[in-house]
Amino acid sequence: MDVNDIKKRLLEMKQNLSDRISAIDRDIRHEGMSADWSEQASERENDEVLESLGNSSEQELLQINFALKRIEDGNYFQCDECGEDIPAARLELLPFTAHCVNCAEKFEV
Ligand SMILES: [Zn+2]
Repeated sequence: MDVNDIKKRLLEMKQNLSDRISAIDRDIRHEGMSADWSEQASERENDEVLESLGNSSEQELLQINFALKRIEDGNYFQCDECGEDIPAARLELLPFTAHCVNCAEKFEV
């Protein structure tokens, strides 16, 4: 697996995410609240959904930045937790992961 290909993929993902985050930000700061009370309430509900979307996108962006840093540091192929090699198939699927399957399971429980 070529690390430059991965880097390219990560940078593309990062670009997409940044675009998505600024689109969400634009939506949250929709200019001019509706005069209608019921409409305001539904806009607020919508904002909450957008905000949680924005948060998960930012979380993903952090992971991508960390993966890019790991590429720079030359430890991209090693698990950040136990130092074991992360299987190429896993990185192929989740290029921004920093953990091997075992450690990822530990963190997610
Ligand atoms: Zn591990």
